[in-house]
Amino acid sequence: MSRTLVDRLVNPNLIPLKPYESARRLYSGGQDWLNANESPFANDYTVNSSRFNRYPACQPDSVVKGYADYAGVTTEQLIVTRGADEGIELLIRTFCTPGKDSILICPPTYGMYAISAETCDVGIKKVPLNADFSLDVPAICATNEVKLVFICSPNNPTGTRVERADLEAVLTHFGDSALVVVDEAYIEFDADSSWVSELDNYANLVVLRTLSKAFGLAGLRCGFTLASADIIQALLKVIAPYPIPEPCAQIAAQALSDTGIVQMQEQVAYLQAEKQRLLDALQSRPGISWVGDIQANFVLFRFEQSSELMAFLVSHGMLIRDQSKQLNLNHCLRATVGSQEQNARLLDLIDQYIAQTGVSA
Ligand SMILES: *Cc1c(COP(=O)(O)O)cnc(C)c1O
Repeated sequence: MSRTLVDRLVNPNLIPLKPYESARRLYSGGQDWLNANESPFANDYTVNSSRFNRYPACQPDSVVKGYADYAGVTTEQLIVTRGADEGIELLIRTFCTPGKDSILICPPTYGMYAISAETCDVGIKKVPLNADFSLDVPAICATNEVKLVFICSPNNPTGTRVERADLEAVLTHFGDSALVVVDEAYIEFDADSSWVSELDNYANLVVLRTLSKAFGLAGLRCGFTLASADIIQALLKVIAPYPIPEPCAQIAAQALSDTGIVQMQEQVAYLQAEKQRLLDALQSRPGISWVGDIQANFVLFRFEQSSELMAFLVSHGMLIRDQSKQLNLNHCLRATVGSQEQNARLLDLIDQYIAQTGVSA
């Protein structure tokens, strides 16, 4: 049988890949979305269309300045991207030669590091987290020939924070050979643990940030890569000329205003309280055990009948995220902390499932 035109022309490294499938694409029709660690708050913004006939700035001043002030860096130490996901891809495209270089990841962790590496034909070296989800520092430092080391803190999906001494050891070990990328997508939920203040001490440190989680703007697609001015200059060679649409720039600037930041902090405080309540309630249910930590805006738990429970929740329009295929996370499900009503509904559905099936402790 002759191969189709696309099969003959497509990059060979793409052949095994499949288009990204979010839980939402798989189960359309859900009403409660506790699957993607989004905020339950949809805040109001205004948009001024008077400049929509013009291309936007590559790096809109108001957003660069707003985020630099918020994060405590200079405007030269930051690049605005279409979500942190674009920052991940830019780093790989800027620092890794396809077919030759590799990144290092520590599973179980966020999936986009591997996906971006695969689409760019860049190798992936995996050093699994220890049983307590801490970094396996000796094994990481024994891994040669990597250009980028991705470390997520708080980590998605375990909710754990990286130990400072561990990350210091990794930064020092790779000081001359690789960039260490600390993904702080959830840092507002673990505010005292940021690595941004270390940027001046480690030339190979890169920090990823986003407006998608605590700021409640996943729909905006706006993220930030923070690093030395040299690293940022290299990334600016690769980024598209007009990556940030004008309406997104306007909205991001409002989110980063003083009132926007106060609002975000109030919403984080609400979610932190809800998170503790959700964890306590889940742990009191028979058969449910807490896994990892709660430094982010989700709770990870193990339940023997995880796939049956997942199917039951889906059939009632409640989406959480099945993590059971991730390394060392058999039977684990991850629930984003939602509004009080959503969390109560999740618990109610779990109780219904347990009552129907007679799970005992
Ligand atoms: C959600 C998430 C991101 C993606 O952020 P975007 O800005 O929406 O692209 C990056 N890293 C981690 C760990 C995440 O959980």
